[in-house]
Amino acid sequence: MAPSYVPEARRRVGRRRDRIRPIVERLAVEHADARIALAFRNDLELLFSVMLSAQTTDVNVNRVTATLFEKYRRPEDYLAVPQEELERDIYATGFYRQKAKSLRGAARMLLEEFDGVVPRRLDELLRLPGVARKTANVVAAELGEPQGIVVDTHVRRLSQRLGLTRQEDPVRIERDLALLVPRADWGRFPHLLIWHGRRVCSARRPRCEDCVLADLCPSSRVWTASPGAERIAAPPTPGEEP
Ligand code: SF4
Repeated sequence: MAPSYVPEARRRVGRRRDRIRPIVERLAVEHADARIALAFRNDLELLFSVMLSAQTTDVNVNRVTATLFEKYRRPEDYLAVPQEELERDIYATGFYRQKAKSLRGAARMLLEEFDGVVPRRLDELLRLPGVARKTANVVAAELGEPQGIVVDTHVRRLSQRLGLTRQEDPVRIERDLALLVPRADWGRFPHLLIWHGRRVCSARRPRCEDCVLADLCPSSRVWTASPGAERIAAPPTPGEEP
């Protein structure tokens, strides 16, 4: 059987507990501009733009919400038009029927149970129709009260490559990260991984030679010294965002 280089790579970089602080600190310097890429002006726009961002790009959502948020300013506005009209207005974000239903359901619950105000607690956000854990975590963090760690495709890939988790399921990955990442960094940590994933550690072609984390990463290709040692590098994940 071919030898595995994974244990050797893990030994080389050391314990994840010891690596997490330098990882956060270096990424914070490298991506000082890391922030949410969605455009919004208030809590309602934040919530609805995150809901619209499922299965599409932030750029696409921003293009749609630039006009959408001029027409719909309060929760009431989403209920004042026929569902088909809202579907047409968000058509370009994809899955428009389900998303229109979710926006209207969330608008109704905001009015009926939260006085029209977006709640800040994760358990309350999760009660809103169409709001799953990732959306709730993003909204809570942007409102300044992170109660979990956002796990998207970039956070999942980088956490695995950096050896911070061996899990595949987002909820389990979040649990591993929550035990590791200092609570004060729960809000910015996902942004740092997302921006590092976009700029340096892409799914198909990680640029380890330019990566500030190369000496802390068990998947770094920079350390491939022996034939076959590239086995330690995480393979590209088909279908992931580049
Ligand atoms: S060293 Fe390579 S695999 Fe590790 S985080 Fe950097 S780019 Fe990604």
